[in-house]
Amino acid sequence: MASVSAYPDVMEKLVSLCKRRGFIFQSSEIYGGTGSVWDYGPLGVELKKNVKDRWWHSMVRERDDIEGIDAAILMHPRVWEASGHVAGFTDPLIDCKNCKRRFRADDPTIKGTPGSPDAQCPVCGSKGTLSEPRLFNLMFKTFMGPVEESAAIVYLRPETAQGIFVNFLNVQQSSRQKVPFGIAQIGKAFRNEITPGNFIFRTREFEQMEMQFFVEPGTDEEHFEYWKERRMEWHKALGLSPERLRYKPHDQLAHYARAAADIEFDFGGSLGFQEIEGIHNRSDFDLGRHQEYSGKKLEYFDQPNNRRFVPFVIETSVGADRTTLALLVNAYREEEVPGESEGRTVLGLTPAIAPIKAGVFPLVKKDGMPEMATRVADDLRRAFPVFFDDGGAIGRRYRRQDEVGTPFGITIDGQSTQDGTVTIRDRDTLQQVRVAADQVKGYIAERIA
Ligand code: ATP
Repeated sequence: MASVSAYPDVMEKLVSLCKRRGFIFQSSEIYGGTGSVWDYGPLGVELKKNVKDRWWHSMVRERDDIEGIDAAILMHPRVWEASGHVAGFTDPLIDCKNCKRRFRADDPTIKGTPGSPDAQCPVCGSKGTLSEPRLFNLMFKTFMGPVEESAAIVYLRPETAQGIFVNFLNVQQSSRQKVPFGIAQIGKAFRNEITPGNFIFRTREFEQMEMQFFVEPGTDEEHFEYWKERRMEWHKALGLSPERLRYKPHDQLAHYARAAADIEFDFGGSLGFQEIEGIHNRSDFDLGRHQEYSGKKLEYFDQPNNRRFVPFVIETSVGADRTTLALLVNAYREEEVPGESEGRTVLGLTPAIAPIKAGVFPLVKKDGMPEMATRVADDLRRAFPVFFDDGGAIGRRYRRQDEVGTPFGITIDGQSTQDGTVTIRDRDTLQQVRVAADQVKGYIAERIA
């Protein structure tokens, strides 16, 4: 378990803010909720979409050596035999209710009989917190077609990566890419987690953004280092504080992995540093296994050298939901406002990912101000999301937008209707500048780019 962080635990406050302001709701709440499944509301869907768009842009659009795909969630059941997921997760498992660690039933470090009061957790040392062994597979099973029989079993994919591996040659040949090149995908994954929790940190249905980079064996180490660095830069550019990010090399590698590192973010409180992304050197394990199980060659033909080989894979795998949570945690702050008795809650999201870019406020509901404000808002809305608010004191309206991370507040006041200027308030500095109404779009566009 991570040691207690120097940053405060803001999770409870965030869960409440996210519900109140329409970022994230518990799934099927009116029926009492579904465990560890969450729905994104109007602001949450925009925020997560901005995260995914930025990832897609940096992986696919900005580069000529990575292709995007969107593979189906349901795949041939043999895929999960080849990947190791069918065999790998059917061991009897024991979980510790205290530290949430999961152990294999035959773990020699467990003292006593799991399920009984004398059994002791080998990690946190608690007594009586170990469950009885249970056969557990993380994959959700369902049936394809009308008959519910074992031959018809299919799985909801527990990761998006396999859709990339099985399409390796389809993509390579249709796009005429040459090794090294990558394939990227964003999509839903499902895991029947036995220790879910911490809001959208670990859920049973989530979205992954995965990229598999296919390289020549022998060059894998340099590509691994390259992607490790690139991915860290991406998280920083998203607005996560550099001092809350770190690399964590894996102490124990999976049998197929040649190297692995996590990018961890400090979520604060007792959660502390936790993985948000994994970067793995997977060797030729995945393509090799799919060759074996499908009987189809998955080799790359290196024309200039007239030879064939199975590429090695460097994988970058990041959760869209977990990254969204990291951004919310990172952005949340409560602060005093100079000269005001009430403090404010702010989501200091970088303008580029904030769900709403500007609030538009007529100072009062008369003297032509609402009409002008409506015109300004309609004009801006064609370029980015804006929120029009004419209800209540202006200070209150600013606060409501601060709380959801809106970087700019545009106020139409008495002077506006006279000289065609408006004020733009900066969420973080609280400074106001006066700008001609027809310059506002350019002013904001420049700052959210
Ligand atoms: P963890 O040990 O935290 O469950 P993992 O090592 O199993 O993660 P990977 O299989 O490497 O995770 O998946 C890559 C990324 O997908 C993780 O870094 C995380 O951002 C995201 N992810 C994995 N499982 C979940 C989940 N249950 N809920 C939300 N995001 C997840």
